[in-house]
Amino acid sequence: MPTETFEFQVEARQLLQLMIHSVYSNKDVFLRELVSNASDALDKLRLAKLRDDALDADVSDLHIELETDKDARTLTVRDNGVGMSYDEVGQLIGTIANSGTAQFLRELREAQEGAGTEGLIGQFGVGFYSGFMVADEVTLLTRRAGEGQGTRWTSRGEGTYTLERVDDAPQGTSVTLYLKPADPDNQLHDYTSVWKIKEIVKRYSDFITWPIRLVGETGEDGAAAGPETLNSMKALWARSREEVSEEEYHELYKHIGHDWREPLETIQLQAEGTFEYQALLFVPSHAPHDLFTQNFRHGLQLYVKRVFIMDDCEALLPPYLRFVKGVVDAQDLSLNVSREILQQDRHIRMMQRRLTKKVLASVKSMMTGDAERYATFWREFGAVLKEGLVTDTDNRDALLAVASFATTHGDDGTTTLKQYVERMPDGQDDIWFITGESRESIDNSPHMEAFRERGIEVLLLTDPVDEVWVDAVGEYEGKRLRSIAKGEVDLGAREDDKSEGEREQQAEEYAGLLDWMRERLDEEVKEVRLSTRLTVSPACLVADANDLTPALENMYRAMGQ
Ligand code: ADP
Ligand code: MG
Repeated sequence: MPTETFEFQVEARQLLQLMIHSVYSNKDVFLRELVSNASDALDKLRLAKLRDDALDADVSDLHIELETDKDARTLTVRDNGVGMSYDEVGQLIGTIANSGTAQFLRELREAQEGAGTEGLIGQFGVGFYSGFMVADEVTLLTRRAGEGQGTRWTSRGEGTYTLERVDDAPQGTSVTLYLKPADPDNQLHDYTSVWKIKEIVKRYSDFITWPIRLVGETGEDGAAAGPETLNSMKALWARSREEVSEEEYHELYKHIGHDWREPLETIQLQAEGTFEYQALLFVPSHAPHDLFTQNFRHGLQLYVKRVFIMDDCEALLPPYLRFVKGVVDAQDLSLNVSREILQQDRHIRMMQRRLTKKVLASVKSMMTGDAERYATFWREFGAVLKEGLVTDTDNRDALLAVASFATTHGDDGTTTLKQYVERMPDGQDDIWFITGESRESIDNSPHMEAFRERGIEVLLLTDPVDEVWVDAVGEYEGKRLRSIAKGEVDLGAREDDKSEGEREQQAEEYAGLLDWMRERLDEEVKEVRLSTRLTVSPACLVADANDLTPALENMYRAMGQ
């Protein structure tokens, strides 16, 4: 059958160059990536068969096989999972579909402009391509479950790959690495060493729920030994926290979160009683760049009694916690449960409530126990959490308790509402805030003048959602949340303020000017009045107390309303 040659997409080529030439300290992780893909492929087939019993695929012994060959210097990772079609191989392996990887490349480029990339490279895993860290050539043979013909993919990682149709491919995928020449001085990196392979699997892939078997090993007497299962397959979420190391949790996070960095927080919940379930949730350390896009995929996996059911399970947490990753394993759901059923299920709603409270409680303890970690959390996820102030009235108080805002007060410049209220001097009844697109636009706002002059603390809100939640929440502990840019702002008298008489006199003096301005601006503004809110600027635009602010108008317009 003809062999076709293709070029890698530009980003893929960049990544491959990095893999081939990087002086990467921990090359072992390539195996984690290949095993992770094999595990995903088995999950997918298990599920496809569940959905469609007629699918022509054997699911009787789903597993992963590792085979080493010292003489040929090859290592093969094989699964009998869902496989890929000819087109899929081209799409999935020839391009970078994983948004995390694209993001990584971007960060790497930025880092290259600045200082060392070493640290960055040391922390990531980039899936399939990481095989090129240890191999000169990689081949992949695959057949999609239910299809007759298979595909062979081959590349030396240098710009091109070939595709060829194959008639007698077994179901699933096998990836063969033609390992780089052995370094006689460094036996530690000999990936044909059975000892080495066992060590890596134990370290990075122990929790994988499918058996990872080592085949082709010869015993002491030279006879072939039977396959040995290398991993314990213990579901981490079903074990008590004392039994599991931080590192094991982190490896699971990297597998399901497709992230190469450590998570910020690990949260475990084991619910007993009539509706039993276990949850192991992770808060990432970085917000994904597509968090605010329509198609953002939630990071929760649903299992039923240890069987993977679905990725991206949005029914388990409210949208404002969509960045949380992890596993929820329920004991009493049907394996056939669909997204639609989940949305309506009473137990799922109870789970959602409980998981939400658990996540918020862990944010709270971060806040009280580890200020730095909390600051990272809020910087990355504050803007999305604030959506909850609008949509989740049940948890509004809990959300307000963990929310912090930029403020004009103090050196570090952030505050909670509670701290703001505690600082409020006698005579101040309201919590003042200003919204804007950026700190700069706020700092230059004429509305700030009188507040600055009088030393009144103002919250500086720059996220688009801010205008929505302040409106929805309205008040905190009986104090109104008020915009300094809306309606009449009466800041009370100051010593050098004008007396009542002076002000009347001033009003008369300016009456003519105001009339003239009213006439000229009739089409543009509702009213023109003398102001006490300015100290330097001659005039400013003020919205009616009930009007939409400009940013909100923009937001609604962008949403097409
Ligand atoms: P990621 O796993 O983060 O998506 P990878 O580079 O590891 O990125 O893999 C790219 C894609 O190739 C996977 O999403 C999957 O669709 C496909 N793939 C890789 N390995 C296998 C495999 N063993 N079986 C089936 N599909 C695979
Ligand atoms: Mg992968």
